[in-house]
Amino acid sequence: MPATIIDGKSLAARLREQLGTDVEHFKRSTGRSIGLATVLVGNDPASEVYVGSKRRLSQQAGITDHHRRLPGDATQAQVAGVLDDLAADPTVSGILLQLPLPDHLDTKELIDRIPWEKDVDGLTTISAGRLARNVEGLLPCTPLGIISLLEDEGVQLQGTNVVVVGRSDLVGKPVAQLVLQKNATVTIAHSKTKDLAAFTRQADVVIAAAGVPHLLGAEHIFPGAVVIDVGIHRSPGGLIGDVDFDAVSKIASKITPVPGGVGPMTIAELLRNTLKAAQLQN
Ligand code: NAP
Repeated sequence: MPATIIDGKSLAARLREQLGTDVEHFKRSTGRSIGLATVLVGNDPASEVYVGSKRRLSQQAGITDHHRRLPGDATQAQVAGVLDDLAADPTVSGILLQLPLPDHLDTKELIDRIPWEKDVDGLTTISAGRLARNVEGLLPCTPLGIISLLEDEGVQLQGTNVVVVGRSDLVGKPVAQLVLQKNATVTIAHSKTKDLAAFTRQADVVIAAAGVPHLLGAEHIFPGAVVIDVGIHRSPGGLIGDVDFDAVSKIASKITPVPGGVGPMTIAELLRNTLKAAQLQN
């Protein structure tokens, strides 16, 4: 039987609609606004598109736009100065530094200037520590979106074997920690893993975040497994993921498409994090 296609676009739209109501309620009950500052350095075309979507959808949800733009040759001190101003501004609830930054900038140092309670991307060292210790904080958006998709699909993680392919700070590591918190048994694979298929074939849930087009085929998946594809790659035929969708959708029980799976969830979770940031600061 072909897999159920997990519709991230539809869940993201539902979450954003609910968020609009929750933002209105927050503003009415506290008399405070909610603001999101996106910071874009340079003019990378993909980053321009991502930042444009984040600004448009946050404004639609009733969140005030505090966008800042710097030239591609901005110095470390200039970017740091903008982040420090936003950190001190009480009307800014959340700060998002769009990555990747130009090569001459120290990304980790700049991310760590963002106060954890405004860190709506969940990428600072303090946010990562709070996640590792399971202390309330702001969590990275793509991992949050993956958990929301699995929950909405009624996938119970407790007691399951989950294999996460990829160990980045952005996706692999935090999503592995979140599924561990849900009492799954978690394996993290990476580029040095020998015989990837031997691990992924044991998994009830496979989360593919390797950034390698069509890395996972039918031979990697146990029939009936749930497959979450985080990868996004441009190909001559359009966007594709880390999973060979045509082959794997014939044997998985549920699978996310690319596009329309995890991607739309990332922005929805960013907006939810912005409301949560405002609540934490209130
Ligand atoms: P990344 O920082 O490049 O990390 C990739 C990870 O995959 C690394 O840990 C790497 O291992 C591992 N890896 C690479 N080749 C592998 C292989 N052949 N077998 C097993 N593991 C392998 O990438 P990322 O930022 O996590 O992003 C991953 C993908 O998700 C990209 O396609 C990105 O565009 C996409 N993405 C999508 C969204 C969304 O909203 N849908 C959000 C973020 C990212 P090592 O650590 O050993 O190098």
